Amino acid sequence: MPLAHARLKDGAAQSAGRGLAFQPPSRDRLPMSMLLQLQRLAGNRAVADLIGTPPRASVQRVTLGWQGADDDSWNKGAETITAEGKKGAPGDEGVLRIPVGGIAAGQAGSVKGEEGGDSDPNIHQPKDWKPSKPGEKYRVAVSSVTGESVGSKDGGQAIVIVPQGLARGPVDVLFHLHGHTIGYRQAKHGKGKPAPPRDILYDRIEQQLLAASKAGWPMIGILPQGAFFSQFGPGGQLGVNVDAYVNDVFGLGLKELGGTTPGRVTLSGWSGAGLGITQMVAGSKAKAAGEKIPGGATGSLLPTSDFEGLFLFDAIYGNYKKPPGPKNWLGPVWDLLQQRLEHDLSQLLADPSKQEPYLSDKGFRFRGIYTERGGCKENYEHLRDPLLEGWFGTAAVKALPPTVQQSWRANYQVQPSGKGVVHNVMIGKQGGADQENLLKAIEMLPKPAAAHAAGAAHGRAAPAGASAPTHNGSPDELLVASAVALGRAGKGSARPAGGTLLHQEDVRTALTNRSKNAAVAEQFLKAQTMVAAVPEGAGRIAAAQQQAAGLVRLIELQFILDPSRSALDLLPPDRAKHWRDFAWEKGDYPGNEGPHQDEAGAMAREMTTVRAERRPNSEPTAVLLKKDATPERWQYIDEHAVAVPGEPGKRLYEEAGESFAKMREAAKADGVKIHIAESRYTDYRPHAIAEAMAKKRKQRIAQAAFSSHSLGLAADLQMSAGKQKFLETTTTPMQNVADMRSAPAHKWMMLRGEAYGWYPYGNEPWHWEYNPPGLPERFFNAA
Ligand SMILES: [Zn+2]
Repeated sequence: MPLAHARLKDGAAQSAGRGLAFQPPSRDRLPMSMLLQLQRLAGNRAVADLIGTPPRASVQRVTLGWQGADDDSWNKGAETITAEGKKGAPGDEGVLRIPVGGIAAGQAGSVKGEEGGDSDPNIHQPKDWKPSKPGEKYRVAVSSVTGESVGSKDGGQAIVIVPQGLARGPVDVLFHLHGHTIGYRQAKHGKGKPAPPRDILYDRIEQQLLAASKAGWPMIGILPQGAFFSQFGPGGQLGVNVDAYVNDVFGLGLKELGGTTPGRVTLSGWSGAGLGITQMVAGSKAKAAGEKIPGGATGSLLPTSDFEGLFLFDAIYGNYKKPPGPKNWLGPVWDLLQQRLEHDLSQLLADPSKQEPYLSDKGFRFRGIYTERGGCKENYEHLRDPLLEGWFGTAAVKALPPTVQQSWRANYQVQPSGKGVVHNVMIGKQGGADQENLLKAIEMLPKPAAAHAAGAAHGRAAPAGASAPTHNGSPDELLVASAVALGRAGKGSARPAGGTLLHQEDVRTALTNRSKNAAVAEQFLKAQTMVAAVPEGAGRIAAAQQQAAGLVRLIELQFILDPSRSALDLLPPDRAKHWRDFAWEKGDYPGNEGPHQDEAGAMAREMTTVRAERRPNSEPTAVLLKKDATPERWQYIDEHAVAVPGEPGKRLYEEAGESFAKMREAAKADGVKIHIAESRYTDYRPHAIAEAMAKKRKQRIAQAAFSSHSLGLAADLQMSAGKQKFLETTTTPMQNVADMRSAPAHKWMMLRGEAYGWYPYGNEPWHWEYNPPGLPERFFNAA
């Protein structure tokens, strides 16, 4: 995408230019398809940088204040919150706390019959309360504790926290989910002023975002209000679609967010919020696999392109020994972390010269915080050791420079909450520098580039995904180069030793598009890891060549199994297109007297330039010529035509049959069925019968009476496979013959049959002949 790239650079240059106001290119000049492509390649931030932010309407559309909020509620309107957690006077240092509603991706309205228990500090279980049946928990109506509802009439409600002096452009977002409590709703109170809601009182999120902003991590907080048991999404879903939720908040028209766009997102959750996060993991996994997302259009999804970090405060419940799911929250969390670790590894291997900058600026961040008595300790400790310890102890990681290993490890931390810091206050208890757990987690995040605040394009704006940066000798480049070298270069060139009949461009395309092909992507990552484990030099090149062979085998197999690919594609692209598009008539087979029988012959000859014939019944590779065929020789042939192992009723020259059985098993391992077609004489055809048949059918082809089938050296293979159906072993209609070039059995034989001594007959895609070098010399000397 050179155009978009150029514009990005233009934008950066303009905005960095002294005294020049940033003039974003008009949206009209960029087609949506290009924006979407750029978004895919470079992320939301690049798109935001590119198109700039449209001027916000001066009239706010946002619903300020929460539904049901009393006049003295902290949720009645926006307030400045100071470092002490108090309402500030105009001009005081602090962050803005803005209660908003109308978020489509959140839970709307009030929840009928909403109940809660004493996991919320505003609810006290009476000492004399006893369950009336086993397992019953103490419950009260949430409406008895707070007069505020979960959502507004038109959508979800949230607290948005905005630091003062926020720079324009993309801003980082902390997206935090509460546990099994009334959330940020104002608790009912007696006389006097109400106590602040839990985000200020217990979690101290405002205070810590203020500190973070002053320390160089300016970010906004989005705190969705959920129902008591951490239900945040529409329809009572536990999780939310984070991207949609964040976009909704930025779309509310808050003047405090004027000129900003969503930047990197860190997902955070406390206690019961962890289950919703596991549902987001499941949703994103389903989406990536092209499966239905649980919850449908409003289903729970993790942040996507700018997902920066995950903070989990006592939010991994269940038992890690159980199957992943509601009874084991660690399973999905570890799934997600492994994905991020694997992504990190692929980025580290893609450019060894930029490993440290990658880890400091872009690598994923995880912080798990657990309390000693909070019920998650065992899961967190299992996550730390053996899971994370195990990952950082693998050979692939150990092959990285020690400083890189250290930096990487520092991005994934599991820590106890600190001395005396109990579950309810674990996010923000103020007990000194070592007990501000959210702030400590934020300080693990990459700092926004300083240049960004000054208006220059953010470091992430470069469309890095378009072509992964590589340099000479990187495992990535070595692998691609080695694999491409195994393909055929240019028109009609031969297969390189140990290589493939696929074109070099086919191999290159498959590897560069591997993000769309899970099997290739996975094998590539494995290969990359193996190559990277070998020190640079001759050893690494050898390792790359070895790994490349495996990758090429996989690409070959995908070609074989793909019904849309034809062996005609092994011709030069213009010829492949010519024959694929050719409109055949029924009798267009050589000798069948159709109007294009010459063209049919020409196509067959072109195919024999891809893989040459080695015919056993004609010069220069003959096992037997007609002029040398004596009755004694026919008798010898008949005596040596024996049963083919695994092909009931079929006979071939013994060596040919043994080779056929081996070949059939190899193809089977590849998922391809190689099988002698079910009709008479698709294998050995005794000479006398062949002669009689030829006379009867007045065959025009001179060799028909002297066929390789009469030598026991030919097999007609079944071409139909699965949904691909063909008329078998027939020369009419010609379109059927041409279409057989896409049969897996034909393609497998073309690409892999030679290793077993089998060669094609250009005219007939189903007819294969056994005649490896040396056979003519030894044929009549068999035991
Ligand atoms: Zn045949």
